[in-house]
Amino acid sequence: MDIESWTFRVERLLSMKAVRLMQLGKPLQDAEVAIPALGPSDLLVRVAACGICHSDAHYRAGISSIDSLPVTPGHEVAGRVEAVGEEVTHVSPGDRVCIHYLVSCGACDFCLRGNEQFCTKVQMIGKHRDGGYAEFIAVPGRNVIALPDEISFEQGAIMMCSSATALHALKKARLKSGESVAIFGFGGLGYSALQLARAFDCGEGYVVDVNSAKLLRAAALGGVPIDANAGDPVQQILHATSGKGVDVAIELVGSAPTMQQAVRCLAVQGRAAMVALSRESVSLLPYPGLINKEAEVIGVSDHLASELPVLMDLACGGKLCFPEGTLRPVSLNATQINAALDAVEKSTDHIRTVVVPRS
Ligand SMILES: [Zn+2]
Ligand SMILES: [Zn+2]
Repeated sequence: MDIESWTFRVERLLSMKAVRLMQLGKPLQDAEVAIPALGPSDLLVRVAACGICHSDAHYRAGISSIDSLPVTPGHEVAGRVEAVGEEVTHVSPGDRVCIHYLVSCGACDFCLRGNEQFCTKVQMIGKHRDGGYAEFIAVPGRNVIALPDEISFEQGAIMMCSSATALHALKKARLKSGESVAIFGFGGLGYSALQLARAFDCGEGYVVDVNSAKLLRAAALGGVPIDANAGDPVQQILHATSGKGVDVAIELVGSAPTMQQAVRCLAVQGRAAMVALSRESVSLLPYPGLINKEAEVIGVSDHLASELPVLMDLACGGKLCFPEGTLRPVSLNATQINAALDAVEKSTDHIRTVVVPRS
């Protein structure tokens, strides 16, 4: 072998493919970057699956602020441990893991109270530090959770955002057994929210969407489909509940009309959990909408590492699943990822697209 090709091979061993955001408002680009170095408490994960999330489209568009570029997006990551720092003892190379996407300090008041999403030094993977649109990702050892063999890497990855945030939303909305729920938007979060609400023994689960394939999926999971194209969803929900409304509404679309609908469809003492990112403002009539019903509007931000084991248990028990046809794989390739990000800005038939680096 000549020196040039030998040098190329050695460099390739130390570098990896990544798809990166170089400039806000521009398509992501293919890049060859160094494999990240590990500190003593870090580990390196070989990415097996990374979900493509609506938030990534917001980052690309410049809707959510990003402090420093370039950055590798992707915060829904599952894979195998490739290497560990000397202080990491709870996992070993070869272990299947998922990654909690918030890297927090563990020492500030918020972290000590178990609200690490508000950590004063929090870094979100794929936004403040490099994420999973890459062959490898380095994270602190405490950010990984074991992924049982019976859960696929693709499902494990999207559970780290869609399912985890849906679970946090249901907890923030204090859903109780027997209570009815309305879910606005049936993408990855809505698909998880309906299954989780049913796992927690909810009453009727109404699913509002405009996509007929998604409404069919909701019905197949035991939900009551509400076609927003067929008239005001609030009137349809009121009609189906004999005028009572629902106890809990989960808003996952982020448009002013759906945010209003999530509040207007509430029953007496109902709770609306607002999850989707939005730049739109919403107006409400406070007396009929909130005061006269003692209704509540609740903000939901991310989720907690402590909630992730619940998801693993539910998935192992078959109560949270993403069957054939709900997930669409794409390669670790800027063209394919940009097209998928374009698609999440519209309503597509599948629930979630997942980057599979080896596909
Ligand atoms: Zn996400
Ligand atoms: Zn902290």
